[in-house]
Amino acid sequence: MMLAPAGLSLYIHIVSTFDFAKLIVQLAAEFKRRDMRAHVDLLRPYYRSFQERRRAALREKKPPWTEELVIEWLCILQIPPFENVLPTLAVGARACGCDVKVVGIAMIRCVFPGGRVRECKGCGARWIERASP
Ligand SMILES: [Zn+2]
Repeated sequence: MMLAPAGLSLYIHIVSTFDFAKLIVQLAAEFKRRDMRAHVDLLRPYYRSFQERRRAALREKKPPWTEELVIEWLCILQIPPFENVLPTLAVGARACGCDVKVVGIAMIRCVFPGGRVRECKGCGARWIERASP
């Protein structure tokens, strides 16, 4: 299934903000509660694989890349069809309505040749600031 770009930013927000392993366990519990046994059987090996990849990443100085990280970079570098996932804003602008006096300035999540990604500490919204010419 192809993720729609509109849903992709939510997806990236979820995998990078929440305890994803805990969410998988909660999903399994809900599948069990609803007697969705085939889904539980498919989720179990995925969970093992996820935990193995996470442990391997913790052992490495330079962790192996994940699908999430590749997709995040596709969005950051605006490679189609991910060119509109992250809005591009002027320096100092904000992609969300959070009050700067309450949550402070948005932190720089990463810098790349041509710009940087900012993230709101209040709501987790992300956007691209192009480097000044
Ligand atoms: Zn915000």
